[in-house]
Order: sequence, then structure tokens, then C-alpha cells
Amino acid sequence: MRALLMIGEGRLEMDDIAMPDVREGWALVRTVASAAGLFHTQMVKGMLDTGGLPRILGHEIVGEIVEAGSPASPSPGTLVVADAVVGCGVCEWCIRGEDSICPWMHHLGIDLDGGFAEYVLVPEANIFPLPSDIRLEEAVMLSSAVPATVHAVSRVGVDAGMRVAVSGVGSIGFSVCQVAKAFGATTIVAADVSDGQLEAVAPWVDATVNVGGMTPAEADAAIREAGGVEHGFDVGFETAGHPSSVATTIKVLRPGGRAMMMGICDGQTAISFDSYLAEFVRREVSLVTTFGFTRHDFLVGNALYLAGRLDVSPLVGPTVALEDVPATLAHIAEHGTGGKRYVVDVGMGAG
Ligand SMILES: [Zn+2]
Repeated sequence: MRALLMIGEGRLEMDDIAMPDVREGWALVRTVASAAGLFHTQMVKGMLDTGGLPRILGHEIVGEIVEAGSPASPSPGTLVVADAVVGCGVCEWCIRGEDSICPWMHHLGIDLDGGFAEYVLVPEANIFPLPSDIRLEEAVMLSSAVPATVHAVSRVGVDAGMRVAVSGVGSIGFSVCQVAKAFGATTIVAADVSDGQLEAVAPWVDATVNVGGMTPAEADAAIREAGGVEHGFDVGFETAGHPSSVATTIKVLRPGGRAMMMGICDGQTAISFDSYLAEFVRREVSLVTTFGFTRHDFLVGNALYLAGRLDVSPLVGPTVALEDVPATLAHIAEHGTGGKRYVVDVGMGAG
């Protein structure tokens, strides 16, 4: 089969290799599409342990079942999306359904072979059927962006009638606004420093605020005023990964509110308060973090998408061929992705 192999730091190479051997409990999937983004540029630089080389990257996998042993598995030919997180299945976290924080977790496309190849092995428990007429470019968004958002919105407990502030509306913040609305949030205010991003998310939220040049205190006041939420928001999402956005997200909370920290700040990060007691401790706020997703998040995310509650089309970037992934990653490393996911065509025309 054709595969794009990572053979060393910064080195990707197309090759013809043997098909993977089918194992009990694992399904053989013909890859239809995968995705390329900033994460892959970091993987190629050696950010995470690949568990040996060569390794086939590509943690976002949409494909077609070729062979699966379980009677519960979709039949051959069914279009599926795969959850790339492979928990050990044995530990206390896996028993709780917290696959994404299993200390013994493996990951397709990181330390197990992933979707940058014509065929891939996926645990049968990690496969979710999709309708055959789904737009393939959008199906790719169901493999990571949507479940990651569902995970965060669920973990922080967004519920009917809640008031939500979202700081940073790139691709993840954009999805957060939609999923929070689907979970029942009735007031959503989006803040960003880009008018373009705010215009894109405007149809999904009640108000937008450009917080460019504002201090966190000024941003807090502007976001409360825009939402008509004088005493603060039930939930704040931080997706920008910037210390001032972190500070704003904590400030906009009502007493007893909860902040979901999704953005990744660079390196050592300090959060400062003028009064640690008045602004933080005595307000009884909760800070929650998130990483990845669980299999349950796929059930929820796919159902919301198929019911028309999510529009993932603004997340879809250009489609590139598998052999063009190295050049695409070089382009992304230099110019970014503009809040989009590049779709990798592995076998979109076949089948
Ligand atoms: Zn485990």
C-alpha cells in the first residue's frame, strides 16, 4: 500500500509498504481522508514520542471498513470516522470512560500508525459509522475538532439557559460557540482581536466584541456589557492561548462560575491578580482543563452534526493529495492554517 512515512526528525517520505496484518479486536479500514494542521508540523519536528520509526502520522481518519470481527462492527463498505485515542482498557481512567487521560494511552497517528496511508488498523471499539452521502471534507472535522469541542463543553457543564463567554474564536472557539448553543446556552458572547473571525461566528452568537488593545479589565467590562450580563457569565472558554485572554476569561465569570482553559499558552505562564483574594479566591470560581476526547464525545458530536446543529464547513480548508503533505506542512509552518484544517485526500475518489 502507499504510505507517507515519518523516517526521522523533519523527514517524511512516500513509500510502498506491506498492508498491516489484521489483529483480533481491530478493524482494517481503507483510508478515505485525513487532515493536516499545525499539530503535524510539530509532530514532524519530534514534539511527541512516535514509539519508533518509521511511523505513519495522521490522527484524523475517515475511511471505509474492509474487515472487522465483532458482530457489533459496521459491515464492510460502511463509511466510518475513527477515534484515534486508544486507551489501555484496563486502568481506572478507562473504566470511568476517561480514555483521553489514560496514563497507558496510545494514539493512532502519533505512536501507532495512522491515516497517512491507504489502509489503517483501528480498534473496533473506536469506529463510528457515518451516512454514505456525507460530505467527506466535513466528515474529517468529526474526527477531532468536533469531539474535542464536545469534550470541553461537556466537562465544564454547559447546560440549558446558561450564559457563556468565549475568548478566542479561531476554529476551536468557533466550534465551542456552536456546541454550547446546542447544549442549551442561551446567551453567548464571542471575543477576539480579529474582525474577520468575529464576523464568521456572528450568526451563532448573541454578541461579538473586538478586544484588541484592551486590558483584561476593559475586555471584561466590554464583554459583560455586550451580553447584558452585569454579574458575570456562568461559563467562560479560553481558546486563544494567551495570558491576557486567560485573565479575561477568569474575570468575566459570575461568582461560582467555571472557566474552561482550552488554549495552549507558550511555555511558562503566570496568571496575575491585583487582589488574589478579591478577584479569585472569594469568588469561588472553578478552572477546568481539557485534553482530547472520549468515545462518548463522538456519539454526541456526530449526532449534533447529522441533526444539522453544527456547521463545520467554515473549518474546512483546501484539499491536498497524500504525496503533497510534506509541502503542505512546510507551508503551514510558515503561514499557519487561517483557522482551517487542510483535508488530505488519501482515497476520496476510490471505493
Ligand atoms: Zn487505561
